[in-house]
Amino acid sequence: MKQLLNWGVLANFSGVTDDISALISRISLRDRLLLLSGISPWLTYPIEGVIPSLKLSDGPHGIRIVGGLDVRTSIPTTTFPVEAMVGQTWNPELVFKMGQAIAREAREQGVDVVLGPGMNGKRSPLGGRNFEYYSEDPFLSGAMASSMVSGIQSLGTAACPKHFVGNEQETNRFRVDSVIDERALREIYLAPFEHTVKTAVPWVIMTAYNGVNGEAASSSRRLLTEILRDEWGFDGVVVSDWGAVRDKVRSIRAGVDLEMPGPSVFQRALEHAVNSGQLGVDEIDLRVRNLLGLAGRVDRTPLEIDHGSHHDLARQIACEGMVLLENPQGILPFVEGTRLAVIGEYARTPRFQAGGSSHLNPRELDAALPFLEGLADVEFAPGYLDEVPDPALIQEAVEVAGRAESVVVFVGTTESTESEGFDRSDIEFPRSHLELVAAISVANPNTAVVVNAGSAMNVKPFQDSVAAILFASLPGEAGGSAIAEVLFGREEPSGRLAETFPQMVEHNPSYGFFGGPSPKAEYREGILVGYRHYDTRRLPVDYPFGHGLSYTTFDYSELSLSKDRIANSETLEVECTVTNTGDRPGREVVQVYVQDVESSVLKPQKELKGFRKVRLDPGANARVRVVLDERSFAHWDDTLGRFAVEGGEYQILVGASSRDIRLSASIEFVSKEDLRLPLTLEDSVQAWVDDDRYRFWGEKVLGLMDEFFAKEAVLVNLGAAVNANLNFMIQTDPSRRNEVEELRQEIAKASTL
Ligand code: BGC
Repeated sequence: MKQLLNWGVLANFSGVTDDISALISRISLRDRLLLLSGISPWLTYPIEGVIPSLKLSDGPHGIRIVGGLDVRTSIPTTTFPVEAMVGQTWNPELVFKMGQAIAREAREQGVDVVLGPGMNGKRSPLGGRNFEYYSEDPFLSGAMASSMVSGIQSLGTAACPKHFVGNEQETNRFRVDSVIDERALREIYLAPFEHTVKTAVPWVIMTAYNGVNGEAASSSRRLLTEILRDEWGFDGVVVSDWGAVRDKVRSIRAGVDLEMPGPSVFQRALEHAVNSGQLGVDEIDLRVRNLLGLAGRVDRTPLEIDHGSHHDLARQIACEGMVLLENPQGILPFVEGTRLAVIGEYARTPRFQAGGSSHLNPRELDAALPFLEGLADVEFAPGYLDEVPDPALIQEAVEVAGRAESVVVFVGTTESTESEGFDRSDIEFPRSHLELVAAISVANPNTAVVVNAGSAMNVKPFQDSVAAILFASLPGEAGGSAIAEVLFGREEPSGRLAETFPQMVEHNPSYGFFGGPSPKAEYREGILVGYRHYDTRRLPVDYPFGHGLSYTTFDYSELSLSKDRIANSETLEVECTVTNTGDRPGREVVQVYVQDVESSVLKPQKELKGFRKVRLDPGANARVRVVLDERSFAHWDDTLGRFAVEGGEYQILVGASSRDIRLSASIEFVSKEDLRLPLTLEDSVQAWVDDDRYRFWGEKVLGLMDEFFAKEAVLVNLGAAVNANLNFMIQTDPSRRNEVEELRQEIAKASTL
């Protein structure tokens, strides 16, 4: 709290020592209560001489300044690629720079808190807001979010990871109850938040609208205090999502510091609760303390800003986030000067972002068409105007394509198929786009398709009939120039998928339990989300997690591990050599997965635990290193109620996607934990004999069985429960009952070991 006193306004507060409690006691109770909610959609309550009004703004793809809640009236700011595309860069350093650029623009607009990054999971490709989240993989999401938060906060602006937690669907988002088992909650949905809180120390975090296991996320003391603060050490401000507070008193008790937007409809109820003693002033002061702490952390001194460089950064992120899905004959990159047919309205009117609270008004918007015209001899045809096929436009486009050497067709989702506020009903392209691509690919075999969408799409209808597919996501304001540069090889498409493209949406493990009218979102797939499901169940997929082609090729060799046995608290260095074996420079994303060879609990077939992106000139190589730690091998153990590692053999798999493993090595984890379930008297004698923890007692029972039963009966009875055998002995010879019962008691004690 010392830092608080360095902050301008607070420093002027007369009589302030470094005692924050003294400061709080000087604030009237009325003001303290008012401080716990906003005064308007984006501003907090100011207290003269103590704390100014803090300004919050979306987030997470740039700064959105709106007068009220209307998302369409934002002032122009740099519009970066959507988070889904940022996730596809697999480049935390770049994300850090994006965070800094956003912080500079925040400062320029007087914004103290940026509402992002969004860090929910991608349970289903149908998630309407998937475009605003990084990945289906918690490790990748956590790594990217942590860098984003660090970037924003490195310049003194607060970041606000959201939505904590279980906000994986848009259907009924204000009231749906996410039913998530503890292991999935910890390993998949809390894990990215945990990593970000522990490594980047965000100053603010936003609750979700939904409930989690029967309790509103904004009223959950377990989530907001016990896990977030007590377990992970979060020391910032918890803000409600806009309108998420259902019960002000409960939310304050749970740990919500700031209710947004304001003014609060619960103010009188809050005053009543405090005046009647239902809510202690000490609980209010805890929240006030956090808000004062936030004010002490944010910096408002002006920063230099170069908007041009932000546009360039947005372009660089777009290039690095673009995923080349197909290019079998190497039609891409196009040769400059070629006669190119550019087809599709999105080349002229870019689809570069999706709707909702992340919707921005770009400072400068690059459509691909003029940039392509600068690189080739271009003829353009719109091909479609909306989702309904227009035969005349298709015919015109076919003629243009027929005259060209090569063709690029722009297709994707539309405003009505992908946005915050609703989930997608399928992963299909609009009919007008599909009919267009079908006709064009017949007219000209040298056709490349550029896909603008924020989540997995079904590209099967044209997968085999076109010569290349570039997944250009929703690439932000510089997306058009980035696409042109990538198509012509001035930049490499170095993105890798951050989510699996399934063969069909029905293969997704949440299918049937996602969206829909039910008041509950049942996460029945548990931990088997995304590739954890597809790879474990060996299902064919269209494009695996981590997939992305390059204009060059890479070779992996010389895998080495720093040790062949690892124990708790130790780290393991994984190194390999990557060589650019093609004739162009390029970037490769080396992915390190851990596979548990034999486990007593369900484990995914492999899990991403590290990655590194490297840029290599033709012929060059680099030694790539990833460090794994105890957590890389751990699972959430329900019996222990914490993460723990089961000892045994693990495989370290290094590759270019979850389905393209190039190198592997084995390591033994010598764990101090014994995670096997205890045996009971209902387990078989054989199980007791086979288990090193219980063998002594198992053999005792066996010894007695030899005395009581014939040899053949002993063999058969080995498979029966210990209890059943003891009972059978008493039936066989009642005179030895006491002896048998004594043994039963000793064994019962042993079973609780
Ligand atoms: C969204 C948040 C957003 C907030 C303010 C909510 O509806 O879920 O992500 O930050 O509005 O715009």
